[in-house]
Amino acid sequence: MSDLDLATLGVHADDELALLTDVAAPLHLTSTFHHDPRMIPAREHNILLSGPGKHIYSRFGNPVIDRVEAVLSSILGGHVVVYGSGLSAFTGAMLYYSPARVAIDGGYHGCHNVLGVLNRVSGQSFKIIDHYSTELDKDDVFHVETPINPTGEAIDLAKAAEFAHSRGAHVVVDATFGPPPVQDPFAFGADLVLHSATKYFGGHSDLLAGLLVTKDSSVRDKLLADRGLLGLQPGNLEAWLLLRSLRTYKIRLEAQCRGALEIVQFLAKGLSDGSLPTLDKVYHSSLQTDSFVATQMPNGLYNPTFSIEVKSAEVARALPPKLKLFHHATSLGGVESLIEWRAMTDPHVSETLLRISVGVEDPKDLIHDLQQALS
Ligand SMILES: *Cc1c(COP(=O)(O)O)cnc(C)c1O
Repeated sequence: MSDLDLATLGVHADDELALLTDVAAPLHLTSTFHHDPRMIPAREHNILLSGPGKHIYSRFGNPVIDRVEAVLSSILGGHVVVYGSGLSAFTGAMLYYSPARVAIDGGYHGCHNVLGVLNRVSGQSFKIIDHYSTELDKDDVFHVETPINPTGEAIDLAKAAEFAHSRGAHVVVDATFGPPPVQDPFAFGADLVLHSATKYFGGHSDLLAGLLVTKDSSVRDKLLADRGLLGLQPGNLEAWLLLRSLRTYKIRLEAQCRGALEIVQFLAKGLSDGSLPTLDKVYHSSLQTDSFVATQMPNGLYNPTFSIEVKSAEVARALPPKLKLFHHATSLGGVESLIEWRAMTDPHVSETLLRISVGVEDPKDLIHDLQQALS
């Protein structure tokens, strides 16, 4: 199926896994499955890799997860393992590598919290260092997020991977803000790619899920085994909602990318000509002048989530209630546009910063709404 477009794969990549004649994939709620009548003992096969047609217990996999992983694997160009949330996927990645050091700079605060918990339960068994620290060594993890939360600016992946690989470290890329076809982290040196599927793949603000992508099937098998042993898989209903969302993934994402770009251009113009006097800064990958950005994000599509700064914390607090088409809420990636005074959920950002996630509404309507609120 690899010669098919993303839009087609989203609808058809799991066709051969259909167990019934239903056109729409059915929701399987079962937690357990009839045992194979051949009654093969566990010591003679790996129950952790139960897979299509061999299901035993839903924690080790089920028919809905099979279909979700088939579609996501085709869309992401690797072997996908899905999790109950982006952070459980991150946990799965950290447990898999069990590094002595993790190089991480800024980005989604939740990942830092996971590292804090893992270090607490493991007796400070690993050290957290900055990205380009000379301490980075063989088998350490270099975790990089691009475009990075909350600003939505791109980070140079090729540069990061060259440095990390020169020291024998593994490169984990959190690509939540730039899902396909915005960028392909594997083309720039990623060893493992992470997405919070709660965001663009889910796309309707109604489920939590996460995923890891690897090019190596033996890594996939190890991640799957850990997932089953730890219980990090998504629930059947969430997996089914995610599968349903993937059918429209490409058209939603492209509309969101185009809408965000139009809005960013409007804001950047208002900033430069002074027509939006309360606005102080606009951050977005499309506004970066570094040459790596066009190489890394080659399809003219930029992330649909970005940030602005306004002149004062008072203005920032006053803005969300003035908007009619943007919900004041955390998260991103859904069909509904959101704005967040980010200081409410991330203690490390300026109180003048607002993060904007563009949905699928008409960008003209969203621009009018922002214009009235900002003036
Ligand atoms: C939301 C998010 C996560 C965490 O995902 P959850 O599904 O909320 O657990 C990780 N990284 C980034 C960049 C995110 O935006």
